[in-house]
Amino acid sequence: MNILDGKATSIALQEEIAAEVTKVIAAGGKRPHLTAVLIGMDPASRAYVGHKVKACAKAGFESSTIERGKEISQTELLEIVRTLNNDKSVDGFIVQLPLPDHIDATAVIEAIDPRKDVDGFHPLNVGNMSLGLPTFLPATPSGIMTLLKRHGIVTEGMHAVIIGRSDIVGNPMSVLLSRNSEPGNCTVTQCHSRTVDLKSHTLKADILIAAIGKPHFITSDMVKEGAIVIDVGINRISDSTRKSGSRLTGDVDFDNVAQKCSWITPVPGGVGPMTIASLLENTLQASLQNTDGIS
Ligand code: NAD
Repeated sequence: MNILDGKATSIALQEEIAAEVTKVIAAGGKRPHLTAVLIGMDPASRAYVGHKVKACAKAGFESSTIERGKEISQTELLEIVRTLNNDKSVDGFIVQLPLPDHIDATAVIEAIDPRKDVDGFHPLNVGNMSLGLPTFLPATPSGIMTLLKRHGIVTEGMHAVIIGRSDIVGNPMSVLLSRNSEPGNCTVTQCHSRTVDLKSHTLKADILIAAIGKPHFITSDMVKEGAIVIDVGINRISDSTRKSGSRLTGDVDFDNVAQKCSWITPVPGGVGPMTIASLLENTLQASLQNTDGIS
C-alpha cells in the first residue's frame, strides 16, 4: 500500500505558486488577492477559511475575510457579492458553504462574477468544465486530479466508482475522470444515496472515490484488492484519547481498507490540503487573467 500524500504534494504546489507570485511581483505585477465570505459561526467553516487564509499568506497572496452573523439577509449577502464583483483589488472570492437555510445559495452563487468565481461553482464555469473549456475547476476534484498526476498514476481505461453527487465533489469528479485526458479516460460509475447494492459497484472499482460525509462508511469488504482509494470525507468523531475529545476522520475505514489498496489518501493529509492548493491555483489564474498581472 502506498500513501497518496496530499500534504507533501500541496506544499510542493504552494511553493511553485509562491515562486510564480514572486516573479509576477518582480515584473511589476499585482499580488493575487483572495477574499473569503464567512456567514455564521460554524466551527468547520471557520476552520476551513482559517486554513485558506494561512495558505494565502504562505503563497504571497493578499487575503481578506468578510464575516457576518447567520441572521444576515439574502439582500445584504447579495450586496456583499456585488461589492466584491466591483472591487478591482479582489481577484477572486469564495462564499463559504453551507449558508444558513433562509439564504438561497444558488442565487448567491449565480450573483458571483464568473471571472472571480475561484470555487468554480457558477453555472457558467460548471458549463465550461463540462465542455472541457478553460475555466476555474472546483477545487476538491481538481486537487484530486493533481494528486493522481503527481504520483504518476495513469488512469486510462480504469473503472472509477464515485460515491456522491454533490455539485462540489461528486458531479465534477465524474466529469473530470471521464474526460479524454490524463488523468482521465476512466469509465465512470456514479453512486449515491439511492443506489441499490452499493457494494456490487464499489467492488468493481479500480479507483474508488468516497464523498459521502459518513465516518468509516467504506469498509474493507467493499474494496477490490489493489484499488486506488480516495477519501474525500471530513467527519469529526469523538476520541477520548485526544485533548479536544474529538478528531477528524474520513469516509473510509482506513486501517482495514489500506491493507487492500495500491494507493490510498489519509484523512487528514490527503484531499483536504489539495483542495486549498487548487483554490490558490485558481486565484493566481484569476489574478493573471483579470489584470494581465499588471497593477
Ligand atoms: P453532500 O452531503 O452534498 O453529498 C453527500 C453524497 O453522499 C450525496 O450525494 C449522497 O447521495 C451520498 N450518500 C449519502 N449517503 C449515502 C449512502 N448510504 N450510499 C451512497 N451514497 C450516499 O456532501 P459533499 O459536499 O459532497 O461532501 C462529502 C464529504 O466530503 C463531507 O464529509 C465533506 O465534509 C467532505 N468534503 C471534503 C472536502 C475536502 O477538501 N477534503 C471538500 C468538500 C467536501
